[in-house]
Amino acid sequence: MMVVALVLSSAAAAHALEIKNVRFGLHQDKTRLVLDLDDVAQFRVFMLGTPYRLVVDLPEFVWNAGDFEQYRSAGVNAVRQGRLEPGISRIVFDMNRPVSIQSAFVLPNDKGAGARLVIDFANVPASIFVQTMNEVHGQLAALGGAGRSGAVRENTAVPSLKAAPVPMEKPQNRPIEKPLIIIDPGHGGVDPGAIGAGLHEKHVVLGLAKALKEELEQSGLYRVAMTRENDVFIKLGDRVKFARQRSADLFISIHADSIENSKVGGASVYTLSKTASDKQTEQLAARENKADLIAGIDLSVEDQEVANILVDLAMRDTMNQSNFFAGKLVSILPRESIRLLERPHRSAGFAVLKAPDIPSVLIEAGFMSNTQEARRMNTPEHRKKFARSLRNSIDAYFEQVRKNQKT
Ligand code: ZN
Repeated sequence: MMVVALVLSSAAAAHALEIKNVRFGLHQDKTRLVLDLDDVAQFRVFMLGTPYRLVVDLPEFVWNAGDFEQYRSAGVNAVRQGRLEPGISRIVFDMNRPVSIQSAFVLPNDKGAGARLVIDFANVPASIFVQTMNEVHGQLAALGGAGRSGAVRENTAVPSLKAAPVPMEKPQNRPIEKPLIIIDPGHGGVDPGAIGAGLHEKHVVLGLAKALKEELEQSGLYRVAMTRENDVFIKLGDRVKFARQRSADLFISIHADSIENSKVGGASVYTLSKTASDKQTEQLAARENKADLIAGIDLSVEDQEVANILVDLAMRDTMNQSNFFAGKLVSILPRESIRLLERPHRSAGFAVLKAPDIPSVLIEAGFMSNTQEARRMNTPEHRKKFARSLRNSIDAYFEQVRKNQKT
């Protein structure tokens, strides 16, 4: 075992793991999933339910297995892959039926370099699935503090947001500190977000977020932090926690939606509400709230965490402030000739906007489904315009906040 461990660590230092191919073998009593790797590697494999997902975690890898959508005969509806957190990448297979993992193991190839990760699974009734779904096969060592067993960790009780102290009011007479703005680029890693014009939402919004960060820092008026600065997956609840732990003054989540009608374009601004302002926004919130599910996160834990947060009293004032900021945005964005969607301020139950004490908005910068707009959003010129108009809106917002504090 010692020898294997040494080989693993030196291999990890030398190069990133490579996934060369993914294949399925159908047998009478089981389905065999084989991932061809360029080296032996640690892994962990487990199932998640509702919907059924088979999750494979490996050390951060390079994906050279090509693009594929589905393996219907193996019960696979869709496949996603990407970085989950520093040091760990994830593959999520959406299954169209309940299956149980029978075994999972890595075999070095007999001839030549490389290895195979073999996962055998079989169809089971839903009642059996429930009994076996929590079993984790394999082990993935900690990498940069990231590596406790994923499924186990996700099932570990996390302190609920409700239990955390919620400051009702910021202390009035401490030295005046620059407001802290949290910029939250949507999606990332294993969750690409919307895809259009060959671009991933996760990349487009990161570009916009970085431009905004630069603009705000150059103003000298604000402190800025980003929930992610590279292509990594972050759970929705952790984005909210990130802002709360830092006692942020404003939270701005940046996205770019996709809809069927490829002609529709324009930016829009969203705030939190218990009931959606309209059907379209309800569906949008459902799409955005799916990020954790897409990345293979156990939602039963996350749901509990945000349950009933809306009844928090501190929320009312926060909601007013969020709405006020949204109003500033929709009046100032067009001044930088940023096109808006009709009825540009809407609301629904977005999970990422649920910090009870931090004014929060979600901006859909445009539509990935509109080819022209998707390309435009990815240009330095548009990023600059976007950043400038947001900065002006933020200035206007804090000007009002300061006025209110004086009176
Ligand atoms: Zn999004």
